[in-house]
Amino acid sequence: MSIDSVDLNKITPMMRQYIETKKQNRDIILFYRLGDFYEMFFEDAITVSHELELTLTGKSAGLDERIPMCGVPYHSANVYIEKLVAKGYKVGICEQLEDPKQAKGIVKRGMVQIVSSGTLFNESLNEKENNYIGGIIDFNYGYAVCYSDITTGEIYTFLLEHNPTKLVSEIVSLGIKEIVVSENFNKDVYALLKNNFKITVSIFDEKQDLEQYHYIYEDIADARLIEAIKYLLSYINYTQFRDLSHLQKAIIKENKNYLKMDIHTKRNLELTETLRLKQRNHSLIWLLDKTKTAMGSRLLKNFIENPLVDQKEIERRYDCIEKLLEEFILTNDLEKYLLEVYDLERLSGRIAFGSANARDMLQLKNSLKVLPNIKDILTKIEFYKNIETLDDLYNLLEASIYENPPVTVKEGYIIKEGYNHELDELKELRKGGKDFIAKFENEERDRTGIKNLKVGYNKVFGYYIEISKGNIGLIKDEYGYERKQTLSNCERYISPILKEKENLILNAEEKIVDLEYQLFIEIRDKVKEYIPKLQNISKVISEIDCLQAFANVSSNYNYVRPKLTTDRLVKIIDDRHPVVEQVLETEYVPNDIIMDEKTNILLITGPNMAGKSTYMRQLAITVIMAQIGCFVPAKEATLPIFDAIFTRIGASDDLVSGESTFMVEMKEANNAISNATSNSLILFDELGRGTATFDGMALAQAIIEYIHDHIKCKTLFSTHYHELTDLENNLVNLKNIHVSAHEEDGNITFLHKIKNGSIDKSYGIHVAKLANLPDSLIKRANQILSVYENKEKKRDFIIQESLPLDDLIKEESEIEKELKKINPLEMTPIDAITFLYELKEKIK
Ligand code: ADP
Repeated sequence: MSIDSVDLNKITPMMRQYIETKKQNRDIILFYRLGDFYEMFFEDAITVSHELELTLTGKSAGLDERIPMCGVPYHSANVYIEKLVAKGYKVGICEQLEDPKQAKGIVKRGMVQIVSSGTLFNESLNEKENNYIGGIIDFNYGYAVCYSDITTGEIYTFLLEHNPTKLVSEIVSLGIKEIVVSENFNKDVYALLKNNFKITVSIFDEKQDLEQYHYIYEDIADARLIEAIKYLLSYINYTQFRDLSHLQKAIIKENKNYLKMDIHTKRNLELTETLRLKQRNHSLIWLLDKTKTAMGSRLLKNFIENPLVDQKEIERRYDCIEKLLEEFILTNDLEKYLLEVYDLERLSGRIAFGSANARDMLQLKNSLKVLPNIKDILTKIEFYKNIETLDDLYNLLEASIYENPPVTVKEGYIIKEGYNHELDELKELRKGGKDFIAKFENEERDRTGIKNLKVGYNKVFGYYIEISKGNIGLIKDEYGYERKQTLSNCERYISPILKEKENLILNAEEKIVDLEYQLFIEIRDKVKEYIPKLQNISKVISEIDCLQAFANVSSNYNYVRPKLTTDRLVKIIDDRHPVVEQVLETEYVPNDIIMDEKTNILLITGPNMAGKSTYMRQLAITVIMAQIGCFVPAKEATLPIFDAIFTRIGASDDLVSGESTFMVEMKEANNAISNATSNSLILFDELGRGTATFDGMALAQAIIEYIHDHIKCKTLFSTHYHELTDLENNLVNLKNIHVSAHEEDGNITFLHKIKNGSIDKSYGIHVAKLANLPDSLIKRANQILSVYENKEKKRDFIIQESLPLDDLIKEESEIEKELKKINPLEMTPIDAITFLYELKEKIK
């Protein structure tokens, strides 16, 4: 049964109301509030019951058939909403907008929020990661993108060339969870984001000019960026149904300010998650994240994904780390105070959103309490930014909020005594009433002589007198007890005096709860005015938190401050891979990476498992660590500032499916050589191995020559084609290095030590042996190898022959020689024509 096939004349008014709302929100699962439940109907009910394994029931609504229905209790709805959102659905929450008791006719209902993966706003979010939602405007010649984390209020925007692959790479690389696009957006990109990268894609075609958000883009001049910002804000407004005053001014993200890395590189280098298991464990961020606050942890991720290129900014971070290492007692205190700082960024969001409770206020107060100490330390270590301490806000919260408030804000027990006179009076009254009840219980025991007489309370009868079965005979009419309830072992009574006091107490109770709620909202609104200040504090705190994390790892793992040079010199002594070093059970073997001004390419040979890719990765990681402003895992390091890193290491996950590994490999190689500058770093691991030997070798050589002659950037190139090591003779900026293995009695051990020169043995069969392939198979492989090695001699000859071919191509042709001889300015037109004619004849 579908909503479109229902006869609206036959159906109940409530169901008609449902269908009308649903028809306007077809791509959204409606959580429809009915009393204490959210109910789903029709297709939604079937989907949800299936996805969440809930019982599918039915509701009679005037039709012959019952309408499919399934529901969840409203107080635990969050769990179900999160599960649906995690599966890529969007959930619309439809509330009762008026009190059912006071409603005339059918209760008014309306949508109060649409929850999707990019607009989630609750406890389940990972505090160490931002939750971004992005909007894309396609201008046909380019894209404008705006993305925001609505829990923290950050907004960024940038322009991008009209290249769908780059767009996808950027979106995935930023970790955006939900993308909003227009109906006529590129369908391939849409499908790719949705199916390959599990990003929620929402279609939305409205652009509003929302006055309350003008401040967000008032400093931005580019109309395209403004359009993208307005578009995203319109969507946020459409899903959240409220003004979000914590949204911050948009920041233009310019790629030229950061070390460029595409999504493959970020993944290959395992910066924020490992390649195979997609886990944070054993990634670079896992190693570096010694932050103490959630805000710091999120900023660290941002740092790692966006290394800097501005030397001054990088050195400033080094200076701070150096200071923190010197002042280790202050640093210790700083760590202690940072641990007390709550997630002020997301708290600001919750305050603006109206979902912050009294516990949040208490946490805010506790954070504010340590701000003077942090401020003091920042001054002492000469940190260039400082923080405001917001003493008046602290005093307000200290004077108003109890130390142990409940989660809900509508049950009282939030506001301290002494904060509000009227509240104190009401509490006195309530206390008087309760004191009276205690006294009354004693007096009645004396009067009746019933020792176990009790005064109790429940919601149905209010205050009552409870008498056990054996003592009932002792009750006299003159006491004025009126029987209300009979239980198996006792009877419960009420009395007029008790009822009178009960009214007083309950009245006071109700007023207290109302007043406390009202006072709490007032306090929350006051805190709201501090949001911009809290956001500024958050920025400084998260930055110093990241830098203390860097200081922490630098001292614990023996990292050094890099020397940044403007010369084209890489000189790293005893470099290590910081993560492998920590994870490895055996000792890590440090290696030097030296490329002087004349050396641009290191060609690395050596057997499998020797440590070639680890060596390449460790250079990239060292560069990234240096450019995020952290010390590096080496004894000594001199480095230039790189503008981009391109890698082709390990298995690639293709952005566009349906292409062979080799095709993807070539595309990545192309991406590198067409975008790299002389200041970039390229890492190619066994490029060309995905095709036949000669093909692969030819391509590898051509690519090396291209980089050598045209790009001239620092490059590490590992290969099994030891024929390529001859290139050292022809290419002046290329140097051979190798990782050797130690062979004894047919067994090999890997030393992981990089040395100059090349090696021509692959030890593939040895590695196969280490992997425990059957002995007979290994024997056979050795036999086949010796046959090939005999043939190889011939092949070597061919390769050597083919190398000078290159020179042949470079040799001047006849025509060129002739052309060089003449000077057109000194020729008569007739001579010129004759000369041209002769040239033409020569070609024939
Ligand atoms: P290759 O690329 O030459 O096949 P890898 O770089 O993948 O080799 O290294 C293989 C293994 O050797 C790694 O998983 C690591 O455990 C170990 N390894 C590599 N380099 C070192 C090193 N410098 N010190 C210690 N162990 C290393």
